[in-house]
Amino acid sequence: MLPARSAGPVQGRPATLPLMQTLVVDHPLIAHKLTTLRDETTEAPTFRRLTDELVTLLAYEATREVHVQPVVVRTPVGEAQGVKLARPVPLVVPVLRAGIGMLDGMIRLLPQADVGFVGLARDEESLVAATYANRLPAGLDGREVFVLDPMLATGGTLVTVISMLRDRGADAVTAICLLAAPEGLARMDEAFPGSSVRVVTGAVDERLNDKGYIVPGLGDAGDRLFGELK
Ligand code: URA
Repeated sequence: MLPARSAGPVQGRPATLPLMQTLVVDHPLIAHKLTTLRDETTEAPTFRRLTDELVTLLAYEATREVHVQPVVVRTPVGEAQGVKLARPVPLVVPVLRAGIGMLDGMIRLLPQADVGFVGLARDEESLVAATYANRLPAGLDGREVFVLDPMLATGGTLVTVISMLRDRGADAVTAICLLAAPEGLARMDEAFPGSSVRVVTGAVDERLNDKGYIVPGLGDAGDRLFGELK
């Protein structure tokens, strides 16, 4: 497996990477939970719980620059300067179906966020993703958006979804992925050069196989979360 895509992350701190705005969150608890998630013997209940926990940890880093505005509150002993989430509140967009398994972990940190939905299905031959569901606000001017998709594989799905969001005026878009492949990151770099699109992920794996699966990856995230539904 590839190490984080940086020359040398400072121990215990996330590695900020050059090319695209990609953050591989370098944390022993994330590595520990990811290892169990990858294990083919891990069953759906544990897989779902670990996904939930991982997303909360990734979301903590992904929201580091979320927009806030100053407020003053009265404590029992005086006035305190503080902040609250700025308006408009962020939009969270899980990509159906596997992204649904990431939603609770995300809104645990951002309970005020609005939630939109996009459904894309990948044709297993061409690996091209087609949209089958779209429930997004018409206008996203000035909105920060967090897209949830566990696997950044070819990048086709995320490029499609993020393009839809940017066409609606979304400001900063952050994709949160459990795992990413170098091929998918390269495709995102190409599609959104030097833009305000970021990827936050738990690890960057070796490569894709000829079926578009991440190697070593964890298999089909949707199937492992929700069953094969054959
Ligand atoms: N989608 C998955 O669920 N797994 C992969 O490895 C690639 C895409």
